[in-house]
Amino acid sequence: MKTGILALQGSFHEHSESLKLIDKDYIFIRSLKDLNQIDSLIFPGGESTAMMKIQENENLFLNLKELIESGIPTLGTCAGLIILSNQSVEGNRPLGVIDCLIERNGYGRQNQSFEATVTFDNFTGEYCFIRAPKIISYGSVVEPIAFFGDEIVGIRHNNIVGLSFHPELTNDEHYINWLKVFLEKGFHVGTL
Ligand code: GLN
Repeated sequence: MKTGILALQGSFHEHSESLKLIDKDYIFIRSLKDLNQIDSLIFPGGESTAMMKIQENENLFLNLKELIESGIPTLGTCAGLIILSNQSVEGNRPLGVIDCLIERNGYGRQNQSFEATVTFDNFTGEYCFIRAPKIISYGSVVEPIAFFGDEIVGIRHNNIVGLSFHPELTNDEHYINWLKVFLEKGFHVGTL
């Protein structure tokens, strides 16, 4: 079984590097024919509007939504979080599997991108925020799992985790260990 990495656009290659570090097989998902033998999913950062547009051709997201709702561990970083959310303040209509409201580019434009200390699960690391989405609010099932100062920058909704930042760009040991456990048993997260 493989982790499917959405590979329409954005930082999908970087996520595959993370998976190589934990010896996890993966497949890049570009069309419906790639959706076999998948036991977990990763939605990368990039440009959420572009990804939403490209997938329309085959209604790829509808099929991915079914897979996610079957309960497999699913991770979205940055634009991936936007896609997994159920509402964005700009009125986008994303996948709707994490019960939260997102503001795209909520931390500013490209040249206001930054690195910051984030407490994520039970460790602290330096992570990149690149035109990152802000988590404005979330529903009662959703559990905050990552913090930057007072801001919540990572959330979990059952088997689905969304992060505003890009741990795949640094691939530190803590993140890699977390990823390994998460992909094996998606519920083992949010131990703070
Ligand atoms: N701002 C981008 C978007 O709206 C996300 C940026 C990122 O993924 N680094 O999709």
